[in-house]
Amino acid sequence: MTSPFATLPKPGVLDLVREDLRAFAGYSSARSHKVDGSIWLNANESPWNNPVDDDGDVRRYPQPQPEALRTALAGLYGVKPEQLLIGRGSDEAIDLLVRALCRAERDAVVIAPPVFGMYAVCARLQNAPLVEAPLIDRNDAWVTDLAAIRDLALARRAKLVFLCSPGNPTGELITLSAVRALAQALAGRALVVVDEAYIEYADAPSAATLIDEYPNVAVLRTLSKLHALAGARIGCLLADPALIEVLRRCQAPYPVPAPCAELALRALTPEAVAEAGRRAAVVREERERMFAALQALSGVRRVYRSAGNFLLARFDNAEAAYRSLLAAGVVVRDMRATQGLGDALRITVGQPEENDAVFAALAPAQQASTQASTGAAA
Ligand SMILES: *Cc1c(COP(=O)(O)O)cnc(C)c1O
Repeated sequence: MTSPFATLPKPGVLDLVREDLRAFAGYSSARSHKVDGSIWLNANESPWNNPVDDDGDVRRYPQPQPEALRTALAGLYGVKPEQLLIGRGSDEAIDLLVRALCRAERDAVVIAPPVFGMYAVCARLQNAPLVEAPLIDRNDAWVTDLAAIRDLALARRAKLVFLCSPGNPTGELITLSAVRALAQALAGRALVVVDEAYIEYADAPSAATLIDEYPNVAVLRTLSKLHALAGARIGCLLADPALIEVLRRCQAPYPVPAPCAELALRALTPEAVAEAGRRAAVVREERERMFAALQALSGVRRVYRSAGNFLLARFDNAEAAYRSLLAAGVVVRDMRATQGLGDALRITVGQPEENDAVFAALAPAQQASTQASTGAAA
């Protein structure tokens, strides 16, 4: 039996791109035309190496999308190279998406707060309306309200939906079936972007597996967290090749510095990737140890289950907890300015000794605050 819809063409992802940018050629860089030559005099580069650049690795403008790195990253993330865009961190990909899909004052971006701040920052810079579908706080876990996201995205004609899985700062993992259902409901209307900056710590499948079937799904990945290269600024967007191509033309001409590309490539050898995987396992173990230890502290109101490399905790006295940690030289993320998190701190999972320092700093503080409140009552 054939479906009556079988002949309908799949809505193309390009329909989601700003009409004025669909045929935009962007800047024609010195490296974008493939020609053979031995004497390169087309880019006004210096004919000599800089004295600090022995091998001359950085004398020339780099490839806009370094091929070897692109292939290696595509292999790591299980996509085809043409489905992957390398950017200056996934932050750049977020910015590119908002700029290329949203017309100022018209096309909305949907987010589910509390969440990573860059989606709102990029929407603000583009003057794209920001629509919020708050996460639901269920005792020891946060839950994305997918029905609300779907309804708001449709009602407000949003072009972009950002999901964060695992969520920062909540630690929530969103299932692939939920992402699939949302992508289906928004097909041809909005791009569903799944930010997977922390997915390696979740030991869960990536939404990248949905891209072939749903061209309106895109995924953000980064070398900044598990791969310990935050300073190299290498992040990726995984998406339909047509969308990657448009974003590439909207991107800066040479977004990936040659030394960073070289470093990232070295970090992607099978041995280095295997080592990163072992570290993810240690972080998961430490995360569970920290969860139990924090939960046992009297001044901790609530700790949320987390699929990331951090824990979000609510305190009876977050100020006191933050101060005792600081006094011990431990800097954690103060979440108190975030709506709904007025009593919360986000603590990154460190090395085992670093985590011990967190417990040591918090245990006496909690005793002191218990004593203080007993004293006040007396
Ligand atoms: C840390 C983080 C990123 C990483 O951004 P880069 O620009 O790749 O360093 C992206 N998304 C979320 C949710 C993060 O927490």
